[in-house]
Amino acid sequence: MRTEKPTPRVSSATPERGALVITRDKLTAPAKAALRLARWAAKRKAAELVREVDPTGGVRLSKCGYCAFTSQVTLNADTHAEGVVSGSIGGVIACGNVWACPVCSRRISAQRADELNALLAWARAEGHAVLMVTTTFRHDKAMSCAGSVDALKRAHKRLVQSKGWRKLPLVGHVLATEVTHGQAAGWHPHGHRLVVLRGTPAEGEARLEAMREAWLACLAREGLTGNAHAWQVQPASAAGDYVAKFGAAEELTLGDKKAGRSGSRTPWQLLADARDGDARAGRLFQDYAAAFKGKRQLVWSHGLKSQAGIAEALEEGAEEKPQRRVVREWLGSSEEWRAARRRRCAMIAAVETGASVETAEHGATDSESWRAEREASTLIEGDDCQTDPAPISCAGGDRPWNIWQERVGDGVSRPNINGRPNMLWNRPKPPPKTIGRHPPPITA
Ligand SMILES: [Zn+2]
Repeated sequence: MRTEKPTPRVSSATPERGALVITRDKLTAPAKAALRLARWAAKRKAAELVREVDPTGGVRLSKCGYCAFTSQVTLNADTHAEGVVSGSIGGVIACGNVWACPVCSRRISAQRADELNALLAWARAEGHAVLMVTTTFRHDKAMSCAGSVDALKRAHKRLVQSKGWRKLPLVGHVLATEVTHGQAAGWHPHGHRLVVLRGTPAEGEARLEAMREAWLACLAREGLTGNAHAWQVQPASAAGDYVAKFGAAEELTLGDKKAGRSGSRTPWQLLADARDGDARAGRLFQDYAAAFKGKRQLVWSHGLKSQAGIAEALEEGAEEKPQRRVVREWLGSSEEWRAARRRRCAMIAAVETGASVETAEHGATDSESWRAEREASTLIEGDDCQTDPAPISCAGGDRPWNIWQERVGDGVSRPNINGRPNMLWNRPKPPPKTIGRHPPPITA
């Protein structure tokens, strides 16, 4: 946990060139490159699917990572403290869709997992009890994804407003909403709520167990019912396990295809199956993406983040900034970049393994890697940015903060404060107000 400087996640072996390089994610460079290809190919499939139900969102997903939003696009090599090199492309749009974009979801979820870890460490240091409550209700095939997710949300709202809940010795709580899809019972929406309570874990567990009836009453007010699984109180170790895996589901899906598909499937598994030609899985992924559009991934109770000093803890525990070297530069509007981005995964892999970037960008490739790269690194036709990018219009316009985040953060974002988009920090200062004041005298 992030109380002290984190230990580097890397093997002690001296990094070598080629196949045996261990990257920061404990993967060999080829394994990491294969995952990256799979992630980008999944993103492309997601863009194809989402545009049918949400044209604006779908186009933004498609542009994510490919369309420049600054005049300069760069291929960067970041050397970290432990000598590991990671590659990235800067100056391109990030869609920020945590639900449907496997690329953005991975990046954003990792930051949020750090915040949750900081919360757990703080609660432990303060001597508070942390428990996890998993909530759901009885559902069937007839319920839509949007309908059941909204019903769960309304029941949660009732719960936190109930007398019994407000009487708990609460320090705060964070709610994560998730959904899986099963053949037999359809959409299975569920909430994981990390609850921080004053007192001992045993007392906390007993108090939360006693809230079961209150939860069932909240469900009943929404016309829903629940069985024994509807309200499950789990100890701190379960909360720790949950946080440790937070945001990693996509990697597990991509790394271990076809695992556990017979029962219920996560949205990323639906997307992977859709890529493999399962049309029904594709339609289910569309339902999911539409249902979760605009929803928050984590809902923190008011004031908990500042009370726990999450932003400060993350700043303190942050690794030393990696040394950045710009390996290659393109004009964002140039044909060279449009050609190069079709090899984006190969170029990043070359940076990480010490292979030739020149060959990755221009050289011949074997047919297999060509096919993989093509699946991962092509835009859907017509989604290209036609002109030199003007920041707002290029990203679709309705969420300009993604752009500011990308511009200032270089892909390394700062923590949110109380759930407000951190990107607001990066907006330009508004011009000073002159109303009621005399204009300055003209001197020249
Ligand atoms: Zn994205």
